[in-house]
Amino acid sequence: MNEPFLSAIPILEALESNGFEAYFVGGSVRDYLLDRKIDDVDIATSATPQEVKKIFSQTVDIGIEHGTILVLFDGIGYEVTTFRAESDYRDYRRPETVHFIRSLIKDLERRDFTMNALAMDKKGRIIDLFNGIQAINDQLIETVGDAKERFHEDALRMMRAVRFVSQLEFSLHMSTKLAISKNAYLLKHIAIERILAEFTKLIRGSNKKQALTLLFDCQIIDYLPGFKDHTDKLKQCLELDVNELSENQTWLLILALIDVNEPMNFLREWRMPTKQMKYIVKALSVLKERYQSSWTVASLFYATKEIAIDAEVVYKTMNKQSIYMIKETIENEFSIMPIKTREEIVISGEDLINWFNRPGGPWIKDLLQQIELAILNKEIANDRDEIKGWSRTCNLPFANDC
Ligand code: ATP
Ligand code: MG
Repeated sequence: MNEPFLSAIPILEALESNGFEAYFVGGSVRDYLLDRKIDDVDIATSATPQEVKKIFSQTVDIGIEHGTILVLFDGIGYEVTTFRAESDYRDYRRPETVHFIRSLIKDLERRDFTMNALAMDKKGRIIDLFNGIQAINDQLIETVGDAKERFHEDALRMMRAVRFVSQLEFSLHMSTKLAISKNAYLLKHIAIERILAEFTKLIRGSNKKQALTLLFDCQIIDYLPGFKDHTDKLKQCLELDVNELSENQTWLLILALIDVNEPMNFLREWRMPTKQMKYIVKALSVLKERYQSSWTVASLFYATKEIAIDAEVVYKTMNKQSIYMIKETIENEFSIMPIKTREEIVISGEDLINWFNRPGGPWIKDLLQQIELAILNKEIANDRDEIKGWSRTCNLPFANDC
């Protein structure tokens, strides 16, 4: 065993010495067997949340109704969840209520895929009741039990299956894939926020081309906000080299391919965080300008570095060109710019009012913009005297009176 499991062993020991069972479970055990990076371990126990709270001095009730308590130990937080069975599935969604149980077997049985239904004890012994290790070796995603039944219990599992294809570079087991194709329509019952969370992991994954192909093949695409009426245009992304794209770059490509009139409304339907929506919409307008003309110092500056990189990567991807060194090249362009942001200009609107002895007005913004351009194009230095001298020669309606 390695970190972060080793540091968490005292938690299992504390639970066991109080007469309970405790194991590492779920994705962390899967990722351990795959030698993937593990951010945090999940612990499952036969102790009820109240019993967990009695054992540890520092706890936080992060999801007590679902049986999850955060145990703080040595400055690290560990999610400890009581074994549970989820029987009250209604409306194809995860259940509102859960039943705490004392049996590990039942807890593993309710998990989505065999690779995720593994447990590991404090000695590193794996409990594998559903051939999860075999599935990991075969790189296959297969439901625990009958796929149709499991997707009817919670339709989100279909999205999860496809995002694991992208994240782990695994394939769908044939019966699981068939059941997704037949039951994709159940996704209409799932909250957009949960779908977005899985879709985000999908487009962050390294095998998104395969996963996106599956979204089409299994008809999931029709149940993703805004995608249904644009499937032909969207399908073009399957011909492109999308695996290298980041999350925001993938969104940008999707919007560029679909070419929606109101990208903000489109993203709002996905309930995307406002900050990210604004970023992507701005990047889209930069990308559209990029279709028209190549970069200038000014267009890079107005785009900002991050957006310029994203727009250029998507532009080249759409044109089936290499994206090699784009980031480095654009970063270099920025490093040699005389100013990186408007705030770096050494004069202000106030200075202009004084120099020209004119009341404030829209002319200030215009002139500042001209000054900014002149500095960027290295016509003048970012220096008060030079700017002052240059401003007087500017083509302003009143400049001659000064
Ligand atoms: P990731 O690496 O993305 O965190 P994960 O497998 O840990 O992947 P989580 O969403 O963190 O995924 O869920 C933790 C575990 O809980 C899963 O491994 C699985 O055992 C179980 N699980 C999560 N969601 C479901 C679900 N909808 N139905 C059944 N079991 C689930
Ligand atoms: Mg996890």
